[in-house]
Amino acid sequence: MSSVIRLFRDPAGGRVESRDFKVFNERSLDRIAAFSRLPEAMRFDMRVVASVLPFRVNEYVIEELIDWSRIPEDPIFQLTFPQRGMLEPEAFERMAQLHRAGADRSEIALLAAELRQGLNPHPAGQLEFNRPRGDDGQIIEGLQHKYRETVLFFPSQGQTCHSYCTFCFRWAQFVGDKELRIASNQATEMLAYLRAHPEVSDLLITGGDPMVMKTRNLAQYLEPLLAPEYESIRNIRIGTKALTFWPYRFVTDADADDLLRLLERMVTAGKNVAIMAHYNHWRELDTPVARAAIRRVRETGATLRSQGPLLAHINDDPDVWARLWREQVSLGIHPYYMFVERDTGARHYFEVPLVRAWEIYRDALRGVSGLARTARGPSMSAGPGKVEIQGVTEFRGEKLLALRFVQARNPEWVQKPFFARYDAEATWLDQLRPPRGEDRFFFEDDSATA
Ligand SMILES: *Cc1c(COP(=O)(O)O)cnc(C)c1O
Ligand code: SF4
Repeated sequence: MSSVIRLFRDPAGGRVESRDFKVFNERSLDRIAAFSRLPEAMRFDMRVVASVLPFRVNEYVIEELIDWSRIPEDPIFQLTFPQRGMLEPEAFERMAQLHRAGADRSEIALLAAELRQGLNPHPAGQLEFNRPRGDDGQIIEGLQHKYRETVLFFPSQGQTCHSYCTFCFRWAQFVGDKELRIASNQATEMLAYLRAHPEVSDLLITGGDPMVMKTRNLAQYLEPLLAPEYESIRNIRIGTKALTFWPYRFVTDADADDLLRLLERMVTAGKNVAIMAHYNHWRELDTPVARAAIRRVRETGATLRSQGPLLAHINDDPDVWARLWREQVSLGIHPYYMFVERDTGARHYFEVPLVRAWEIYRDALRGVSGLARTARGPSMSAGPGKVEIQGVTEFRGEKLLALRFVQARNPEWVQKPFFARYDAEATWLDQLRPPRGEDRFFFEDDSATA
């Protein structure tokens, strides 16, 4: 089947040809030409890991973003392809034995389900907490309301991505575990909730990736917000990695122009539309289509902010962040958050100690101008809120970590500085201890943080 080729010409003379969306998963790994040229031992390891952790990658990422002469170190390869170290040795060995023995799919699926349970599929109580209820007391599927001013919405058609990140903290919903799915197709319930909660100024549409939806589906959630009863919703944020994984969404896909017109309509009607773009490496910004996509989104009047986690094997280097932020700023993207990798999935492979994370952040900031110093971080999205590591300090002979909440379940905690004992190894909030002489952190007194 051949499809029509569409051409996009930008005013500066560049041109981008459309591309058919062709995607591979763990069952079609062997059909990726570049993969089949890798050494057999490496391919075996990757098959084993892909049977536990989600794997999905499209041809644009394979052909334009990955540098196949730099395998396995290439950051985009690490970002999308399974690596042996992503499973603990014991888990890897058990799954490897099944593969060696030629086990059938059901046996593999059974062990995969067991191994996934050991990977903390829902960090920071994503399922139990922050689930809003409607008038009838029923939990509203697909909504999360943790911080007063912002509601997260997970439209059911947007619960996948154009490729999967190997470190994804939402990985559990991609491996078909229905119980773990946070999803909704109910625009009406979401809208009713927003009408009942005028304290909410921001609607954050997230996923997966909402940009996998057709424009007409996205419109069904966005357009009603233009009615006067949603005046309290001032900011519509859309979280996406499509600018990296499938920039054609904004340039040459059949409904790309419709999408841009939709964003433009929202902006013209007075909403601030903020695209919260997930980026991990400056290489993601390097292709002509990625740049055309950014330019076209900006032309709608939407703003672009960037966020992404700090990850070993991908971007644990101040120069990578400095260059990422510098290039983003020159393309009109505002750096917003540097996250600490969450305590889930292949975390042990990607984690960076908090002290080291702060050093990378500090050194990256030192290398950029003030315009690029807008990223907050390194920030942990933990149960009590988003906690930022502010630095290492010393008070009366005790070495300490200075921290603060940038977002909190309890609004009174926001911006409150606090301290933890210095710990060069700790990688998450729950590993930190209060300073000498204190038996708990101030936020641990609040029963809501349990
Ligand atoms: C980060 C986050 C938000 C948005 O926080 P901002 O600091 O306003 O960007 C909202 N809800 C949840 C659950 C979050 O993790
Ligand atoms: S784009 Fe976001 S939701 Fe999708 S796999 Fe990557 S981190 Fe997960």
